[in-house]
Amino acid sequence: MTNPQPQLFPLIDIAIIGGGAKSAYTAYRLMKANPNESPVLKRLLELSGREQLDVKLFELSDRIGGRLWSINLPGLPNIPAEMGGMRFLKSQQNVYGLCTTELKLEVSSFNFGNNIQYLRRQRFRFEDYPNPEEVPYFLTDEEKGSYPIDLVTNTIYNLVPEAKGLSGTKLIMFLRDAWVRDEPLYNQPLYETGFWNLLASKLSIEAYNLVIAASGYFTLADRAIKLDYGKIEYDRQHG
Ligand SMILES: Cc1cc2nc3c(=O)[nH]c(=O)nc-3n(C[C@H](O)[C@H](O)[C@H](O)COP(=O)(O)OP(=O)(O)OC[C@H]3O[C@@H](n4cnc5c(N)ncnc54)[C@H](O)[C@@H]3O)c2cc1C
Repeated sequence: MTNPQPQLFPLIDIAIIGGGAKSAYTAYRLMKANPNESPVLKRLLELSGREQLDVKLFELSDRIGGRLWSINLPGLPNIPAEMGGMRFLKSQQNVYGLCTTELKLEVSSFNFGNNIQYLRRQRFRFEDYPNPEEVPYFLTDEEKGSYPIDLVTNTIYNLVPEAKGLSGTKLIMFLRDAWVRDEPLYNQPLYETGFWNLLASKLSIEAYNLVIAASGYFTLADRAIKLDYGKIEYDRQHG
């Protein structure tokens, strides 16, 4: 009986696992890099004895893109639908710079107002939120007419009023050290407080469900900490 020969793979210098945006960008940068400008790449090149680094990207699925995925819905061949990431902000400096300066992609502004909402079998436009009759949720008088995101930010300001008026790094730094002191439920650092807990403490159950269904960040509203959400909302509003 003979031992099976181990399968030999060609030696490569750098293996990138995954073909999402992050990995594809990493591969792009490595392919464009001048190894002489990086001690690590230079050493790798010396070890490989090649003229150029051998960079390989391994993707589990049958396509590159990961959570960026554009498809054409049946009957709408000319309108790409985004199943994952759909837009970027100017504050996402790396992404913005890559798309505009480096890749020179055509960009246009993203308008939330025209978005269509399908909630509780009712169809309305995002811009209809100020009209309570269009929104199929039994909100309190105080909550009526609010956009889902305003329900969230008002809750945050309600719980941590000092955050109001802060922006950018100041806001992030403030949230990092902030405490929720809304006794008896909370008296703990903000970053240790479940986001759903914060929301549920101030919103009616109907408003809470509306935020979960309509904010577009179910997982965040469901379980993430507030610090993350605060940053995202800051980015979104100031993008
Ligand atoms: C619904 C939705 C909406 C979003 N909207 C936005 C938005 O508007 N703006 C924005 O900036 N961001 C948005 N995001 C987030 C953004 O899409 C992601 O942050 C980004 O695409 C992540 O890229 P990534 O390369 O880090 O990971 P991923 O895109 O997750 O890529 C990881 C890749 O690795 C592969 N992989 C995993 N394990 C292995 C393995 N063992 N071997 C080989 N391959 C493996 C996976 O198949 C996948 O292709 C959204 C995400 C979702 C889901």
